[in-house]
Amino acid sequence: MENSQRQILRSLPPMDELLENEWLFPYYQELGRVTVKEILSELMSVIRKNVIEGKVKTVTMSYIRTGAETILESRRKTSLQKVVNATGVVVHTNLGRSCLASAAVEAVKEVASGYSTLEYNLEKGKRGQRNEHVEWLLCQVTGAEAALVVNNNAGAVMLCLAALARNREVIVSRGELVEIGGSFRVPEIMAFSGSQLVEVGATNRTHLRDYEGALTDNTVMFLKVHPSNFRIQGFFSDVPREDLALSAHDKGLIFMEDLGSGILVDVGNLGLSGEPTVRDCVRSGVDLVTFSGDKMLGGPQIGGIVGRKTIIDKLRNYPLLRALRVDKMTLAAFEATLRIYLKGQWREIPTLNMLSLTMVQMKNKASSLARRLKQIIPGAEIRVLEVEDAVGGGAFPATTLRGYGIGIKKHPWGSSGRLQSSLRSGDIPVIAGAGDDSVVIHVRTLVKGDDKLLLEAFSSLPVRGDE
Ligand SMILES: *Cc1c(COP(=O)(O)O)cnc(C)c1O
Repeated sequence: MENSQRQILRSLPPMDELLENEWLFPYYQELGRVTVKEILSELMSVIRKNVIEGKVKTVTMSYIRTGAETILESRRKTSLQKVVNATGVVVHTNLGRSCLASAAVEAVKEVASGYSTLEYNLEKGKRGQRNEHVEWLLCQVTGAEAALVVNNNAGAVMLCLAALARNREVIVSRGELVEIGGSFRVPEIMAFSGSQLVEVGATNRTHLRDYEGALTDNTVMFLKVHPSNFRIQGFFSDVPREDLALSAHDKGLIFMEDLGSGILVDVGNLGLSGEPTVRDCVRSGVDLVTFSGDKMLGGPQIGGIVGRKTIIDKLRNYPLLRALRVDKMTLAAFEATLRIYLKGQWREIPTLNMLSLTMVQMKNKASSLARRLKQIIPGAEIRVLEVEDAVGGGAFPATTLRGYGIGIKKHPWGSSGRLQSSLRSGDIPVIAGAGDDSVVIHVRTLVKGDDKLLLEAFSSLPVRGDE
């Protein structure tokens, strides 16, 4: 080490002295003194290392302060925070999928801030079952005999396979061995559950004779999986549910379907057709249907399992259920969401509401926002334009929804990418789309109050030129 380096190290302020700096005081309030001290001591060891390696030639207090404030600021901000979804993707998996209806939000507040009947039967004055709060409602809106809920749909599939098909063979079409975003892969979930996957048919075509030809004494189930985020076009066929159900029942097997983004109402009149509802599956003879609560259904994250009572009863006492059980806030939100369906008022559910917006409604919204944006960003090129939105969440992947948006060009914040990134770093981050050379605000996915937040986000952007 050179003399100059030794000198810099010696001149670094000792921790006690550092902690007396007034600019740290607000952080003591928010993070606690112990945490602030830990962060500083980590920072100082990095600085020391950089000095020794010759990467840093002078260390001033303002250098230390800048480094410390960057880390402290990032720790001070709430991590899971609200954002404005201006992407036009309705069930946006990275942005929390579905927004809850206001009745569901109220139900969560009530149950979260006090005690509740989560596992208490008021009539008997004794222990009750948490599943009972939603079971009859789920049966009511799907036509099933029995229902059970778990943490999410991946958990639902896992529970069914583990409880019913452990060490037994489950027959699945090769066209349905899908991976659904992140980490849900049908073959892997099956392996984890201890069931044995028997693949039949070809990627694009599977026939009933393929399923029946694979039967052995150890077969317990036919499993149908919704292909979710992909579609095969052209020379394609699969086996109708009714035929699989008849064949399964004839041979004493269970017919299960992982429906993915379960829908409870026919959305054909929203321009979204070709997908069965959970009720359709039950009616076609599927014994067990599993689906997500927070995709097209528009509720909280939950996994629904509906179907035949004798089979669901076997799941109720399976130990894995305890590890997948649903929290009270989720149950409250789910019950309230199902009650909206019961009343037939599903347009109150934000996910379905966003999907049922008309072109006129969206154009009006875009025009009014564009007018106000022009006042905030004088000189920029701001246009109302037709955009392509998406359902998201693996539902209706081949359907593009026509929507409206606002394209912003020639603004004072440099490139589109730079503007998108600045919008993400505001107090309430705005996640915007991009089109040729412009940043695009899709209006379909804006929720109540987002207009105002958007305008505030633009007003508070630091103005700078192209760098
Ligand atoms: C989304 C999806 C899942 C996973 O559901 P989660 O609720 O996210 O656990 C499983 N299967 C299919 C077919 C899906 O589309």
